Amino acid sequence: MIPVVDGHNDALQRIWRGGGSLRDRSEEGQLDLPRMREGGIAAGFFAVFVPATDERPDWRAAFRRTADGYELPLEAPLPAERAERIAAELAAIFTRDLTPVLTVSDLERCLAGKEVGAILHLEGAEPIAPDLGNLETWRARGMRSLGLVWSRPNAFGCGVPFRYPGTPDTGPGLTAAGRALVRACNELGVMLDLSHLTAAGFADVARLSDAPLVATHAAAHALAPIPRNLTDAQLDAVRDSGGLVGAFFDRTMTHPRAEIDADTPLDVLLDHIEHLAERMGVEHVALGSDYDGCTPVAAVGDASKMQTVLQGLAARGWPDDGLRALGHGNWLRVLRATWR
Ligand SMILES: [Zn+2]
Repeated sequence: MIPVVDGHNDALQRIWRGGGSLRDRSEEGQLDLPRMREGGIAAGFFAVFVPATDERPDWRAAFRRTADGYELPLEAPLPAERAERIAAELAAIFTRDLTPVLTVSDLERCLAGKEVGAILHLEGAEPIAPDLGNLETWRARGMRSLGLVWSRPNAFGCGVPFRYPGTPDTGPGLTAAGRALVRACNELGVMLDLSHLTAAGFADVARLSDAPLVATHAAAHALAPIPRNLTDAQLDAVRDSGGLVGAFFDRTMTHPRAEIDADTPLDVLLDHIEHLAERMGVEHVALGSDYDGCTPVAAVGDASKMQTVLQGLAARGWPDDGLRALGHGNWLRVLRATWR
C-alpha cells in the first residue's frame, strides 16, 4: 500500500449530526479511523464546517433546473454567533477522537505507519473574527489549514455557487479583512485552501500569498465545467507557485455533464487526475476525497477504497514514484514550505 494524505473530509460533521466516534468502524457515512487504516490513509484534513442549519439541508428543495443545467442559490452569510458555537463543537470532536498533526514530523510519523493523523482544517473562515482577534487561538487549538470561504459570502471573501455549467468567475474577490487574513496565515504558517473561492478571490490570494497555492478538494474545469472546478489558467497558477490540487471524488462534480445520481465510472475520476497531472506536472497533484461531504464515485465509495484510485492509475501506466508523489510526497513538500 502507498500511504495517502487525504486533502479533505467532512467526517466531523457526520459525527456532530449523528453521534458516535471516529474511532469506531461505522456502517454510516464514508470515513472513520478503521476505514482510513484499511485504505492506507495515513493522515487526512478534517474539516470544521458550520452548516447554515442544525437540520440536514434539503438541497434538492432549493435546486433549480435551468435551460442547460442546474443552479442552487448561494447561501446567505452565517451569523457570527452560530459560526463560533458550532465550530467549537466540531473542534471538540476532533480533540476527543483524533491524533492531531501539528508539524511535518508528526505527518512523517503517520506516513511511517505509527498512527493515523488528523489535520484540523477550517472550511470557511466564519469562526475567525473579522479583526483576526482569535486567529492565534485557533492555531493554538491545532488549526493548520484554513479555507477562506465555503460556497457563500463571508467577512473575508465570497464562495462560488453550485451550478452547471459555469466558471469560477462568479463574484467579488477578497475584502480588506480577507487580504489581512492571507498575510496573517502566511506569518503564522497556516495553510490556505482555495477550494470554493471565486476566481477573483483566487487571484487575490495568488498575488498576496507567499506560500504555495493549494486547493484541497477540486477537479478540472476543462473536463467538468462547474464553478467549483479549477480552470486551466488557475491550475497554471498553482503549478507556478509550487502548490498542489487535491482531486475530489464526487460523482456529480467530476461528471462531464454534472449528472445528478450519475453512475460515474472510476475512469472519469482518473481522467481528472490525469488532466491535472498533464497540465501541472505530477508533482502538483494530490488526493482530496471529500468523504462524508460528497457522493463519491461508487468504486471509491468509502475511505477503505482509497487504494483503488492508485491501482487504477497504476493500470494506466503510472510509475511507482508518481503514485508516491500523488499519495503523499507532494503534500510533504507543500507543508514543509507552508507550516515552517
Ligand atoms: Zn468543500
